[in-house]
Amino acid sequence: MSSCLSPASVAVVLGTRPELVKLAPLIHELGDATRLVHTGQHWDEAMSGRFLRDLELPAPELLTGVGGRPRAGQIAHSLAQLDAAFAADRPAAVVVQGDTNATLAGALAANARGIPLVHVEAGLRSFDRAMPEEHNRVMVDHVADLLCAATEENAGNLRAEALAEERIALTGNTVVEVVRRQLPDAATRTALLAAHGLRPDGYVLATVHRPENTDTAEALGSVLAGLDRIARAGTPVLFPMHPRTRAAVERFALDGLLARLAVTGPVGYADFLGLAGHAALLVSDSGGVQEECTVLGRPLLVVRRSTERPEAVAAGFAALVQPGSDFAELARTWLADAPDRLARLAATPSPYGDGLASARIAALTAQVAERGGRAGTPLAA
Ligand code: UDP
Repeated sequence: MSSCLSPASVAVVLGTRPELVKLAPLIHELGDATRLVHTGQHWDEAMSGRFLRDLELPAPELLTGVGGRPRAGQIAHSLAQLDAAFAADRPAAVVVQGDTNATLAGALAANARGIPLVHVEAGLRSFDRAMPEEHNRVMVDHVADLLCAATEENAGNLRAEALAEERIALTGNTVVEVVRRQLPDAATRTALLAAHGLRPDGYVLATVHRPENTDTAEALGSVLAGLDRIARAGTPVLFPMHPRTRAAVERFALDGLLARLAVTGPVGYADFLGLAGHAALLVSDSGGVQEECTVLGRPLLVVRRSTERPEAVAAGFAALVQPGSDFAELARTWLADAPDRLARLAATPSPYGDGLASARIAALTAQVAERGGRAGTPLAA
């Protein structure tokens, strides 16, 4: 499909781990039309380097001085550099994904120069205005020319904000493809579990990194205490720790609550999927994990105040547990009926589509790029 697009003509702007994961299938679909730009928001080996390699992504143009700043500084520094890069070499279209500061900076840079903007994963809404991500996604949707909604619900959120129908396309979510492609084969998964001393369907896999769970000692202490209770009750808990969470554990001196958990650093994507695919239960505040659990057929407790991804809850994969609540009690119930639950989920289709999202998005991106300028012309479905 990329044949109608010139080499390096579509700037794909990203800055974090989930963007690398979700955009990988689209970047492959765009092929040599991709011009990958990494803002450096999360730029290290564990969160970026190995993801670029493992997902077989091209070497990115890397912005400087962005990571580690407060939100406004990240956006401002990315925006200034993106503007200069787009002035020097104007892309035919800009693609961003999700709701990070990199997403917003890429969107504003495209908007400032009148370059057509594609938003992958448009229309997610938590309706929680305390979350910076909610503001990022709303702002990006309102300037994007092509809004790639993963689900009907997401498209409905866009319509409810009076965004024009001709800007909205229902594409499915690229997560379905990336999970299917990156999940290691059965023999590799067996070796992986053995290396961690885990039994299939016999452990909990947990990730925590959102500010709402890591910004205060009380919030983080409550999540870690819940995981500690699960481990005390006899189910092993594997906890690959995000760098932000590790820093918060040290800051609040909460190491004692880690004693019964199997703590590692962040793991590579294929390993994470392999481990998630055999967990009896997932506990997470991650956005991506809320989607991945539906492809892997695994139950998830979402430790969040709200979610912008109600589909996994509605389909029976996930439940939202309020911060401060005793989720170990719900975990106990879910673990007790794990065989039935796992059988039921294995037979439940993912609400995130048929695994063809990236081909649809790439075709629509080519149309938007060819048309040039801002939206107004209806897109073919
Ligand atoms: N992930 C990973 N290794 C880990 C933890 C998570 O590869 O140790 C993946 C996970 O499968 C998901 C993505 O990282 O695809 C989620 O990233 P994160 O939780 O940082 O962001 P969010 O999805 O909440 O935006």
